[in-house]
Amino acid sequence: MKSAWEDRYYCRKCGAMSVIPPWKEKTCKYCGSNVYPFPEECDKFSREEYDKLKEYIREKYVMTSPEFNQRSAQFREKIQAEGRAIDAARDAAKAAGKTTSPSGSPKVECPYCHSTNTKKISTLSKAAHTYMFGIFSMSRNSKNFHCNKCGADF
Ligand SMILES: [Zn+2]
Ligand SMILES: [Zn+2]
Repeated sequence: MKSAWEDRYYCRKCGAMSVIPPWKEKTCKYCGSNVYPFPEECDKFSREEYDKLKEYIREKYVMTSPEFNQRSAQFREKIQAEGRAIDAARDAAKAAGKTTSPSGSPKVECPYCHSTNTKKISTLSKAAHTYMFGIFSMSRNSKNFHCNKCGADF
């Protein structure tokens, strides 16, 4: 049986979870450390239980790992929180009827998790990303969209 969690990887250093297509380098986009495929036992979780599964993996596999680094985890959480804050601000602006922002591109569906919670990667964020993550992020520059749900670039 094909696993529901194929192409999902977790980072033992910072606890990040992401979808990484087979042709991409298996490194954490937050801390640059190696990532590992979801353990087989994850199949007992359904897709709807992804949040629960994330907690489970963090508790059982990440926190107990000698690679786990609290500061890396905090750094990742900070970046994710900032991402959510930006999304919330955009949603608020949209709700207020200000749909004229340059990022107001049509919704694009994520090819991995089929969420429409995606955003166009702007030239500025590409540059900032390259600045922060250096050579590891070069491949990202050929991608135009980012999925806010599963974190994939495509
Ligand atoms: Zn990491
Ligand atoms: Zn996705």
